[in-house]
Amino acid sequence: MKIQVPRGTQDILPGQVEKWHYVEGVMRRLAAEYGFQEIRTPVFEHTELFQRGVGETTDIVEKEMYTFEDKKGRSLTLRPEGTAGAVRAFIEHSYFAQPQPTKFYYIGPIFRYEAPQAGRYRQHHQFGIEVFGSAEPITDAEVILVAVDLFSRLGLADLTVKLNNIGCPKCRKDYREALIAYFRPQVEALCADCRNRLERNPLRILDCKQESCREVVAGAPEITSHLCAECQEHFSGVQRYLEAAGVKYEVDSGIVRGLDYYTRTVFEIIYTGLGAQSTVCGGGRYDNLIETVGGPPTPGVGFGMGIERLLLTLEKTGCYLPEKAGPDLYIATLGQAAKEAAFAALLDLRRAGLRAVTDLMGRSLKAQLKYANKINARYVAILGENELAQGRVQVKRMADGQDAEVAWPDLLAWLKAQMQADSRKEEEVQDDSR
Ligand code: ATP
Ligand code: MG
Repeated sequence: MKIQVPRGTQDILPGQVEKWHYVEGVMRRLAAEYGFQEIRTPVFEHTELFQRGVGETTDIVEKEMYTFEDKKGRSLTLRPEGTAGAVRAFIEHSYFAQPQPTKFYYIGPIFRYEAPQAGRYRQHHQFGIEVFGSAEPITDAEVILVAVDLFSRLGLADLTVKLNNIGCPKCRKDYREALIAYFRPQVEALCADCRNRLERNPLRILDCKQESCREVVAGAPEITSHLCAECQEHFSGVQRYLEAAGVKYEVDSGIVRGLDYYTRTVFEIIYTGLGAQSTVCGGGRYDNLIETVGGPPTPGVGFGMGIERLLLTLEKTGCYLPEKAGPDLYIATLGQAAKEAAFAALLDLRRAGLRAVTDLMGRSLKAQLKYANKINARYVAILGENELAQGRVQVKRMADGQDAEVAWPDLLAWLKAQMQADSRKEEEVQDDSR
């Protein structure tokens, strides 16, 4: 039997991985500019962390976790989201005792047992940020701004920010009663899951994706009319900061999010061109989570962004994404002495930052040139016995076949100057096309 990747997972191969490097690079730069520091937590954690942190009545904990026992019988789970691990680390390393806020970001794989389809996988990757320690509405706005700014730097324009406030436990108690009173007479119209949720977690019904449930939900009471004065004030505060930063958003009382830990602000950023899997980024405030996980009462707010969905969106909208890059230089050689000289020279070329390769296959000169063409080398140098004896080398620019003869010891300096001129020209072409 041919062994393939497990269902819902994929290899990221050369040609694709350059695109990942590019978006991850933009994410890291942006996160640093906003004052976030990277955190790398384990890919698996004690199952209890997610049971407590994500919530027992969520889809994630009920159905989607990859949970297993290790050889000592400990229950471990592949992380199904990134916030719980960041919170655990915040508590474990006593970050709460330091001046706040604490601003973390992470990039890494997330595991959920889901029905695989376009934009929905069993292993996907998220860029996530978390701010711990601040309950101020400016913080919620800054978190949303990071996502919006990232999209804009990647050239994405037609995304929609949907914003809501789902209250605090105080105002949600009221709302919960109102929801139960609304859904109970129509319980027959709900799916089996939602009938189950009615008493346990009626808010979850608002997030159900079943068509029949969606129809019932359409007439449900809205949280916004049940908010307490503090939550109201927080909500308008967030909106004021977003307006100050020129961020366009829509208030949408249908956004409740699939995790139990959210309080007050929740948001999703949507690209409708992705079909059913339209949410590229989702997040919100979780003022009780850190305490629930065992830390001192500490407010928090963050988001998780699906990198696969982001890349799909960039591809669909024709945004810039880098192509597979070939080496800057391929040195083709003829004869053993030339081969050894090239091998030694490559050391300097590479240390100077050039991507430079030579023949590892013992190919004929002709076959080497064919191969250099195939791997998209920008320049090809030919070093034979004659060239070596004369201390010269033939160099060819592959884009237009332009030839030059260069003194062998000057190859590095010549190539650097040449490549600088090439990229200046590329910039000019780009300017002209604006
Ligand atoms: P959805 O409603 O689409 O299931 P979610 O609410 O479960 O999303 P979050 O837990 O908020 O998603 O995760 C943050 C982001 O991670 C999502 O907005 C999405 O871009 C991405 N994401 C979530 N689950 C998957 C998945 N199975 N495959 C690919 N990306 C995903
Ligand atoms: Mg989901």
